[in-house]
Amino acid sequence: MSQISMLYQLQLVDSERLRKRRALIDAESNLGETPGLQQARAILVQEKTVLSHWSGRLRDLDLKLKGLNGKIKNKEQRLYSGGVHNSKELQSLQADLDQLRRRRDKTEDSLLEAMTEVDDREALVSEAQAVFGQIEEQWKAEQDTLHVTVSQLRDEMGVLEERRRELRASIDEADVDLYDSLLRSKGGLAVTVLKGELCGGCRVRVPSGLAQRVRQGQELVLCNNCGRILVSGYL
Ligand SMILES: [Zn+2]
Repeated sequence: MSQISMLYQLQLVDSERLRKRRALIDAESNLGETPGLQQARAILVQEKTVLSHWSGRLRDLDLKLKGLNGKIKNKEQRLYSGGVHNSKELQSLQADLDQLRRRRDKTEDSLLEAMTEVDDREALVSEAQAVFGQIEEQWKAEQDTLHVTVSQLRDEMGVLEERRRELRASIDEADVDLYDSLLRSKGGLAVTVLKGELCGGCRVRVPSGLAQRVRQGQELVLCNNCGRILVSGYL
């Protein structure tokens, strides 16, 4: 392979490396949890917290109601046993019983309210769980694909690196220096194809004599406008 062909190959390799590096950065930036997944999880955690609050309240109210029922039963037994004859004591017993019954009514109301809340909250948790599960499943599939892509790109970059090293080792040092300097100053394009008589880099027509020398491929010819290395299309 001629020096010019190798310079052109080097340019193709470097352009491909640049494309792959950008794709790799892009793919890597999408690895990890997405805002959508985090948000769905946060909503699920929040709904579970609220449900847990209401479940706790329901348990407390249930215990309270059992306690009140026990006390009411005791008082009723004493009141209806016929064992208490003192009218003051009877009045006091009746008053206690009335108060306990009122407390029981209020507790039963609160208990019903808590049961409704628990039902509603359980439905919301199920809903949030379903949404999170769906998003997580889709996210996992995307992450799997991304991991494969990243791995492939890294392998391909490795192959290109190797090819780049081989080419640079085979090209004259002065030409490699010129190539590197052009690559830096010409936006990553140091070697370009001459299309007819148009420079593929700056799109300006080169003199016929210069185009002729490029086609002969015996020497390094630079575009008289942009300074890029020109190669003929058949390379
Ligand atoms: Zn040019």
